[in-house]
Amino acid sequence: MTIGILGGGQLGYMLALAGYPLGLHFRFLDPSPEAPVGRIAQRVTADYTDHAALEKFSSGLELVTYEFENVPVEAADFLAERVPVYPPPAALEAAQDRLAEKNLFRKLGIATTEFAAVSNPSELDAAIKLLGFPAVLKTSRMGYDGKGQWILRTAEDVATAKSEVPPVQMILERFVPFTRELSVLAVRSRNGESAFYPLAENHHRSGILRLSIAPAPRLQESIQRAAENAARRVLESLKYVGVLALEFFEHQGELLVNEMAPRVHNSGHWTIEGAVTSQFENHLRAVLGLPLGSTGPVGHCAMLNLIGDLPESSEVLALPDAHLHLYGKSPRPGRKLGHITVRAASPERLALRLSELPAFFHRPDFCLDAALVHSASLRA
Ligand code: AMP
Repeated sequence: MTIGILGGGQLGYMLALAGYPLGLHFRFLDPSPEAPVGRIAQRVTADYTDHAALEKFSSGLELVTYEFENVPVEAADFLAERVPVYPPPAALEAAQDRLAEKNLFRKLGIATTEFAAVSNPSELDAAIKLLGFPAVLKTSRMGYDGKGQWILRTAEDVATAKSEVPPVQMILERFVPFTRELSVLAVRSRNGESAFYPLAENHHRSGILRLSIAPAPRLQESIQRAAENAARRVLESLKYVGVLALEFFEHQGELLVNEMAPRVHNSGHWTIEGAVTSQFENHLRAVLGLPLGSTGPVGHCAMLNLIGDLPESSEVLALPDAHLHLYGKSPRPGRKLGHITVRAASPERLALRLSELPAFFHRPDFCLDAALVHSASLRA
């Protein structure tokens, strides 16, 4: 049985690694000849808009899924006429456009920060008047890892943004002075069964995820339930199949949803070692209509992204509770090259292990201070 995956980056790589024990085969489509999955699976190198390549790619596949949410919806629709495609292309469509996504949340009664559509400089002025400072201006489409965003605190920032923003649809959001960022991974199978992982606490630098701690420290039952309810509404309304990630701001004891990703997610990498069933395996179970595996945690995890450069593998592996994942990409500034997960039986043990990480990890961009503070506060 061969599963087709659109996108051949590290998420696809880890999906395949989770699928091999289930007897699955994989074929990937990615425009880049350097896509990491080339090492471990069949790869078709072509543009997502190349119909002849999509036709060839889809031949004999059981189904198609994706690991990249900016796949053109048109490509997903083209494939859906030939093989089942999960998650449904409608989910892709909603997630690719911040305005459409926030309107969906609003329609479903899921709390989000206030926002306004901005398509020209005078609409920006009107939106600022409505929402006030500080605010965040974002391109509605194709933004990721903090790209295409401007934080506006003053009239000068607005003037700068006006001179810099491309002439595309934008969204202005009220800035949320959040206490922390949390994300939930939800999974719904073809037969309607759904399950939810415990929330992870996420730390970003320069818009890129650096550290996830899971389950999130001091996780209140009510917050977990609120996240699950929000995710359930999205799953049901889109008749979703597969793993869905929802990212939230925690603000004054409430959750405000920021965005969703219709795929496995970086903030769920901890589930490989830290949950009974990983997000990757559960995504495959869901799209195949197999029973879902338990999403329960098996310890306390910290996941650290390796961005731009790599530590010595031997130094990481010298730590008994550390697991190293390298994606086989060549180093480049800002590029996600791998991650490590430290899994421990208790918060105390996790704090100890994190404090023992080699010097490489004690740079501010790893946000380890946050993990250590949390672990220490749990201990107290
Ligand atoms: P995004 O691309 O929407 O995930 O934004 C990247 C990061 O920017 C988020 O993880 C937050 O840290 C920050 N951010 C985005 N939107 C807001 C907002 N409305 N208020 C405060 N911080 C934000």
